[in-house]
Amino acid sequence: MSRAHEIRLSPGKELHLTDADLWLDARYPKPHAFVSHAHADHVARHQHILCSPVTAHLLQARYGIARERLQMVEFHQPIAWKQFLLTLLPAGHIAGSSMLHVIDLNHDTSLLYTGDYKLRTSRSTETATWQKADTLVMESTFGLPRYVLPSSEQIEEQILHFLDQALADHATPILLGYSLGKAQEIAAILDAHQRPYVNSAAVAKMTEACREAGVSLSKPELADQEIPQGHALIAEPQFLRSKKISHMAQPRTAIMTGWALDPSARFRYGTDGAIPLSDHADYPDLLRTAALVEPKKIITIHGYTRELASSLRSQKYQAWSHYGNDQLELW
Ligand SMILES: [Zn+2]
Repeated sequence: MSRAHEIRLSPGKELHLTDADLWLDARYPKPHAFVSHAHADHVARHQHILCSPVTAHLLQARYGIARERLQMVEFHQPIAWKQFLLTLLPAGHIAGSSMLHVIDLNHDTSLLYTGDYKLRTSRSTETATWQKADTLVMESTFGLPRYVLPSSEQIEEQILHFLDQALADHATPILLGYSLGKAQEIAAILDAHQRPYVNSAAVAKMTEACREAGVSLSKPELADQEIPQGHALIAEPQFLRSKKISHMAQPRTAIMTGWALDPSARFRYGTDGAIPLSDHADYPDLLRTAALVEPKKIITIHGYTRELASSLRSQKYQAWSHYGNDQLELW
């Protein structure tokens, strides 16, 4: 079987499947684009958007994108696109997030685009699934060997420990995470451990949008002026700079992010604590993804692209940063 043909990406910062004429998570409006999920850095007002039904709902609720521009594609249900078959797969990043698997029927070759993703299971999103592909286009957010996350159980223990300590000190524990995705995961963790909490307005709004899209989450309780005793507050990171927090008697904050693996994280975010709850794959899972997909070629995007490509080459993959400038190893 000849593999001379591959599904090509056009050169340039934005990702464009050349022969399919389909843009991937483009930042500027395009005629046809796949939108992997509803985080702002993956969304633009394209004329025609392919996305999962949950993402379609969030794009309407969050960005006011008109329904007629959105083509909803169910997970695991291939659709025809020119000579290609397109299949959306759950990416495990936030509710509705998808990978895109592309088969070129004319040339018997395939590509998997991960978008933002993680392999580990979480409490508020679908678990990622993958398909083998000849070309793997993968994100590289945590593409350095030092980014190794603790187990989910250990991370949840850290959250509970932070709550217990704050409450024992008569402080109000405030868990800070991005309002779409991270905040719902924090809420689901607190629900699972029966810890009471209230939500900032921005978080409650996103949780309601997810619920309307059919995501199974409990109804968000909105924070009043006073946080009830024994309760935590879930809020977006911008809450740190709000008037509300300056009026609180004894706030104690923790940022929830994979960057908490950097020892300086709590200083950088200006919080009392930092807990490595992430919606991205850590370094071992990035390498594991390559092993699962068994690609002939890997293109790295977003984050430590050159470093991850170099690590993958040391494992004998053909791997290159989409942005070029790969430092070739001298061996
Ligand atoms: Zn994202």
